[in-house]
Amino acid sequence: MASLEEHSLMSAGQPAAHVFPIGSRINEAGRLEIGGCDLVEIAETFGTPAYVYAEDDIRARARAYLDAFRARIERFEVVYASKAFPCTAAFRLLAGEGLSCDVASGGELHLALGAGFAPERIYLHGNNKSDAELEQARDAGVGHVVLDSFDEIDRLERIAPGQRVLLRVTPGISPSTHAFISTGQVDSKFGFGMDDVPRAIERIRELELVGLHAHLGSQIFDLEPYERLAELLAGIGRYPLLNLGGGLGIAYTYDDRPPSIEDYVDALLESAPDDVTILCEPGRSIVGNAGVTIYRVGTVKRIPDVRTYVAVDGGMSDNLRPMLYGARYEAELADRLGGDTLCTIAGKHCESGDILARDVRLDDPRPGDVLVMPATGAYGHAMASNYNAIPRPPVIFCRDGDAREVVRRETFEDLTLRDV
Ligand code: PLP
Repeated sequence: MASLEEHSLMSAGQPAAHVFPIGSRINEAGRLEIGGCDLVEIAETFGTPAYVYAEDDIRARARAYLDAFRARIERFEVVYASKAFPCTAAFRLLAGEGLSCDVASGGELHLALGAGFAPERIYLHGNNKSDAELEQARDAGVGHVVLDSFDEIDRLERIAPGQRVLLRVTPGISPSTHAFISTGQVDSKFGFGMDDVPRAIERIRELELVGLHAHLGSQIFDLEPYERLAELLAGIGRYPLLNLGGGLGIAYTYDDRPPSIEDYVDALLESAPDDVTILCEPGRSIVGNAGVTIYRVGTVKRIPDVRTYVAVDGGMSDNLRPMLYGARYEAELADRLGGDTLCTIAGKHCESGDILARDVRLDDPRPGDVLVMPATGAYGHAMASNYNAIPRPPVIFCRDGDAREVVRRETFEDLTLRDV
């Protein structure tokens, strides 16, 4: 299996390597390969758009987390934040690698259990868990519920007395990231502000409080806020578990240089007491760079001296992130990487804002080309919708040259499945 450092794209002289899955390469036909599979062939076999993952990349990053902790401390847990990619095949793979699992809804809990996650290794999150979700967690034997509000303390005491819980703290640390994915600040819908924490702890009577939790936000490159987090939580009181959340950023663009998993773990442990179990909850940094989306180019609209629109057969229904928080992406043609035609990648939806990427350089794009967007492995499939009644794409796992469909493409029949 390829290591994190081993990028054959890099050796082919492509500066772009780090945004693509580990082990990606350009084959003899000049086409991009993910997990040993030719993306033009994948497009022909499974159609477009499609989410294509290098299975070994997911494994390598999960193992990098486990190895980084194992090399530094004895008691730890790596908890997969499944909202990033709540797909049965991914749950199975990561359960097999020995990770625990964070779910943020009854639906994610259902998927995690169905894929074989041991209930005691599951952490249930959410700022507004319903009674039904708390009952579902109780009945399944979920290991830990992460308490998010005073109302929830009362509800859970009624529904599941004796449940092991963590308390979610908003520590008042604002990392540098987009406001929509920042959660550590005081003005947040999540968790208990530092001033409320003592009252929350006092309020708990029928539950077993075993730890504290904080999640600062997502797509974070600056590790400094993490260095103080464990100390800050430990200062609240001594509990066996400290869950320091997720949020390590990944490379979306060629210029992005995120910290390594090892440096991130170093920062998490910088101020951690040595008599507690340290947990972290990575999502994006496990699956984000493992996946690409492939599209077929349909039209190329050249507006002289203004812009070239390259329209593909997907868009905001398969990747909402550019529209939701201005996320930036790169794009390449699967059989002609590089190029110097400045392009804007447009989706096919009836919205002017349905733009997947701006100012990317392609090699003379033409209708019929297969276009690849790297780093779509996290929060793409997860946030997909049926806007414009477009069926959602399949998920393809690639490994050692074999491609298998782990989620099939939706059909038009699926679109009416819930009609009554
Ligand atoms: N933990 C919690 C509580 C979260 O809300 C999130 C993301 O929203 C994560 C972990 C995972 O974050 P990331 O995917 O950025 O690692």
